[in-house]
Amino acid sequence: MKLASIVYGTQETVALVWGDDLVDFGRGLQIYRLTKAGEAGPVPRSIQDLFGQVPGGKEFHRYLADVVSFLDRHNYWVSLKIGGSPRLRPPVARPGQILCLARNYAAHAAETSGAPPTEPIYFAKSPRAVIGQEEPVIYPAGAERIDPEVELAVVIGRRCRKVRREEALEYVAGYTILNDITDRHQQQLDIQAKQPWYRSKSYDTFCPMGPVLVLTDEIPDPQALELTLRVNGEVRQHASTSEMLFPVAQIIEAISQHITLEPGDVIATGTPQGIAPIRPGDVVECDIPGIGKLRNPVVEEKAPATASPSGS
Ligand code: MG
Repeated sequence: MKLASIVYGTQETVALVWGDDLVDFGRGLQIYRLTKAGEAGPVPRSIQDLFGQVPGGKEFHRYLADVVSFLDRHNYWVSLKIGGSPRLRPPVARPGQILCLARNYAAHAAETSGAPPTEPIYFAKSPRAVIGQEEPVIYPAGAERIDPEVELAVVIGRRCRKVRREEALEYVAGYTILNDITDRHQQQLDIQAKQPWYRSKSYDTFCPMGPVLVLTDEIPDPQALELTLRVNGEVRQHASTSEMLFPVAQIIEAISQHITLEPGDVIATGTPQGIAPIRPGDVVECDIPGIGKLRNPVVEEKAPATASPSGS
């Protein structure tokens, strides 16, 4: 099952991706609840909102599958493309936290002159940086080197603390794509100064995410996906998630030993080799077949308006 957080007109809701169509899952959920429980409840305005409205834990996927089967049986498929042009928002627009793996592909560790780690290394990225499909990445004025990084992103569906890797994937709602954009020059300066590199990863718009959330029913094995990053159509990164040093289950085990993960939290699982800079005017496309293509143009930061002379 593929879900999208969308906006059409002034409405925000959740859509089910059905072939090439986007159908109204928010209203569908209301009809399901009205029929089953006598109360429609509010329309979920986003996937994050949906997490708070449907049963969590192991019931999550079963419940959503039941809703879809109900809508299918009653032929309740209202296309959101009729009479409007729905716009995709990030699947999770404001995650509680975004944790990112560093050097989780050996060949990328080698190109950044870092040794392959012996345990998962992770850092945080500001949730404020998240943008969605087709939204512009703002290229900071005066920046020396900005790099995109294609990554498989895990979206947590169930509160998790100190889980073993054998059961870790049960806590995953689904997967999406995250472009971990980095001010590489600033990051190197901060590393040399023995400072954290949070800033270089967290500028506004430096976290494109999407285009949709694919639930685990469609991706039973997150280590069998292909990642490609193209800039202006030219392939820069291409690898398989089978090349990760630490697979998704082990990452969740490691993080959850110390940090509780909540529904809607996002884990970016690291980028493969092939990092190279982008420039204003470029178009970046992160592609994982089975999830989709996350596409974002790069635009130059506008210079601040010049202050008018005093006394005028
Ligand atoms: Mg990264």
